[in-house]
Amino acid sequence: HLWIYNYFIVKRGLPNNKFEKKSEMLKGKRVIVTGASTGIGEQIAYHLARMGSHLLITARTEAQLQQVVAQCLELGAASARYINGSMEDMKFAQAVVKKAEELWGSLDMLILNHIGKSYFNYFDWDIRHVQKLMDINFLSYVTMTISALPMLKNSGGSIVVVSSMAGKIGFPFTVTYSATKFALHGFFSSLRQEFVMQNTNVSITLCILGLINTESAMKAVSGRFTSPPAPKEECALEIIKGGALRQREVYYRYMDTKIFTVLRDWAPEFIDYLIRKNYNMDNLKQD
Ligand code: NDP
Repeated sequence: HLWIYNYFIVKRGLPNNKFEKKSEMLKGKRVIVTGASTGIGEQIAYHLARMGSHLLITARTEAQLQQVVAQCLELGAASARYINGSMEDMKFAQAVVKKAEELWGSLDMLILNHIGKSYFNYFDWDIRHVQKLMDINFLSYVTMTISALPMLKNSGGSIVVVSSMAGKIGFPFTVTYSATKFALHGFFSSLRQEFVMQNTNVSITLCILGLINTESAMKAVSGRFTSPPAPKEECALEIIKGGALRQREVYYRYMDTKIFTVLRDWAPEFIDYLIRKNYNMDNLKQD
């Protein structure tokens, strides 16, 4: 029984229905969500709004952010504000945290979720794209973490990093994206070790996601990747749950993603083969 308890409750966290009942954990908490104009980030904002959190959301598209803020207020957010700009610019990444400080003077959770636009195809050897995506998908995460750390230390808060199976295993056609996600795992896993050694009471949750049915992902993989996607609404709740329960990692969907990562080092060639079987090469060649 203890094993079952450990496996399902400690490792996987509370089941969603139980967590929703405990969602007062996030009531009145002050949360930044990046990349919240669409997709998973937007759904994270809606869940947090229902739970009564204070929200600061960010992305580039102002009109879209305004709509998400309006919806969050309707759903019951304690407050909801936005700041728009590009995470290519590290000054903007700092400005987002500064805005939270001005609004609340404190921060409980930093949810880093945004990604820059990439392509789904063979690597194109364009080093400028690699640099740009490293800035948006990795350096801005580090920049925001540095800026937010004093507030997070004061509140005993949480950092939630939305990553991917492509941050654990090499997938084809996402070479640059995968490099940025691997970088996140290296940085935040090492930082977590130091937090423990320095008694820094800030949790770090890395989220390892499989394919999720967001508009941009569905457009990118359409006709080329044969695995069925998981729903963005449930995914968003799993991410919040992992952060609130201070889990070190979230796997979603658990069975699809965890098995691959566990087997990765035991049977790497077999796993690579299974992954390649999911791609429809004919559709790819049409590009
Ligand atoms: P979306 O494309 O739906 O959302 C990306 C968000 O980032 C948008 O809000 C977008 O808004 C914002 N964004 C894009 N470029 C910039 C920029 N230069 N500066 C600031 N913000 C920017 O992505 P998903 O919801 O699908 O993905 C969310 C997270 O989940 C990502 O970290 C992704 O790696 C991860 N993930 C997703 C999977 C999936 O299948 N969907 C699978 C595995 C991981 P705007 O354009 O207005 O700036």
